[in-house]
Amino acid sequence: MKWKKGAVSPILAASVLGVLALIAFQLVWMRYSRRLSEELFNQRACMALCSTVENYGGGAVCNKNDSGESCCRLNSADDNPAFDSSFHANLTEQLKFYQIDLGYKLTLSTEKLCEKHPYQCSVSLPTENGENAFINLVFPEKEAFVLQKMNIMVAATILILLFISAILLMANWALMKQKRLLQTNVDFFNNMAHEFRTPLTNIGLATNMLTRKHEILQNNPFLEVIQRENGKLQAQVEQVLQLARLENGDFTLQPETFALLPLLQSVADDMAIQMEEKNGQVLLETIPATLTVWGDRTHLANVFRNLVDNALKYSSDAPPVIRISAASIANGVEILVKDNGIGIPPDQCEHVFKKFQRMREGNLHTQKGFGLGLAYAKSVLQLHKGHIKVQNISPNGSQFDVFLPHKPH
Ligand code: ADP
Repeated sequence: MKWKKGAVSPILAASVLGVLALIAFQLVWMRYSRRLSEELFNQRACMALCSTVENYGGGAVCNKNDSGESCCRLNSADDNPAFDSSFHANLTEQLKFYQIDLGYKLTLSTEKLCEKHPYQCSVSLPTENGENAFINLVFPEKEAFVLQKMNIMVAATILILLFISAILLMANWALMKQKRLLQTNVDFFNNMAHEFRTPLTNIGLATNMLTRKHEILQNNPFLEVIQRENGKLQAQVEQVLQLARLENGDFTLQPETFALLPLLQSVADDMAIQMEEKNGQVLLETIPATLTVWGDRTHLANVFRNLVDNALKYSSDAPPVIRISAASIANGVEILVKDNGIGIPPDQCEHVFKKFQRMREGNLHTQKGFGLGLAYAKSVLQLHKGHIKVQNISPNGSQFDVFLPHKPH
């Protein structure tokens, strides 16, 4: 997918989403750990209260005394030993032992308040009539106390989040800077190719005029070199510009249904001179004359011209033989272009379709090129909803497999 100038980078969007997800996760986690802290606090408070009740009378607190009175009478809370000063002293000591240094309130009730209010702790005391009474321990400042204990954790979490966000922002900024730089280079490259086009066309026209007007120059070898090399340069420049147009999306396909054989024949004819020079041949095999394809005639012709041109460029010592066959298959038409050239190592088969990728091995230096022909072919076929693959064939050579779907309904 191409990143358009001015659009939000998908990586930046993904980073923002990642940070938001991290913040959400941290919030959930902090809520959970606050609940855990509270539960821990409650447990410690309850343990302190239970120990106090047990220590206070060695169980006497919860049983009838000799006079038959309950120590837990509800109608007279003041009589209850749970509220005398030694009980409070004992409770304060126990709370300190459990690291709770907070003001508290004690109440008696017939119901267990801690079931209704999570901030309370209740210890049951059986009363004389067999019912349960409860001593409830309440901490009015408990929430602030628990939150204060979490302060360090919250601060550390915020710092880590800020750190991660800053790193992601910096990485994105560097990436966008690189992308802008790359885009500038690509624009420069395309503009330069564009500027080369007119002088090259003029050179071509001038050499044609020279050979036409001066018969003596018609077979001049120097002029032939100029014409041939000019033709090569023009083809390279066209390739750069076509790929740029494809990538910028500023061109539309002009699809039509047409017979495949004449198109391939015209490609083979265009390459006839180069073929002759290398003593090669293009064989159009098993292509039914009635076989039609749906697509943009000009761009598809360019695709096959690139494939034949490559087969010629990357030929081995043997005279190049390029076999083109085509057949109608399930959802479209399959066209095979086979050559007997140097072949493409299997591990490079995927990479040769990437822009500027040229094989690192083989007889490369003698062949000029930008590594754009196959990238262009792939883009054109993708626009047709088709595809192109390549495989190495034994004993040598490569086979390009082009698929063009039927006309969509
Ligand atoms: P260019 O030919 O300008 O380098 P292409 O995109 O057409 O760019 O091809 C990419 C690379 O794939 C070539 O550099 C070459 O290494 C390899 N390649 C393409 N076609 C063939 C072929 N028929 N046989 C062997 N290698 C090939």
